[in-house]
Amino acid sequence: MFHIALHFLVPGIVTGVFFHKRWKHAYLAMVATMLVDLDHLIANPIYDPDRCSIGFHPLHHPWLVLLYIALCFLPRTRYIGIGLSIHMCLDAIDCVVTNGVWVN
Ligand SMILES: [Zn+2]
Repeated sequence: MFHIALHFLVPGIVTGVFFHKRWKHAYLAMVATMLVDLDHLIANPIYDPDRCSIGFHPLHHPWLVLLYIALCFLPRTRYIGIGLSIHMCLDAIDCVVTNGVWVN
């Protein structure tokens, strides 16, 4: 539950510190990147608290993480890229905490 709260809290902190002039747009775009977790719907079981998402779910593949980081450098996709990068960082940290590995 704390992990899910961090997916809302960390983008809020980043928005407040770096994008406070456009905080609504930035925060909504970053939180919308939670939709990347829709790839959990094709897993069985859909939710497993002991499973490491990174490297297991298709949209959490390490190659895509490189794309998400690249999106941070393009003005039109910056908020999405930052949101996705934060998401992957939080999921990777969760992997370390629950499984002791960064990638599945
Ligand atoms: Zn995720």
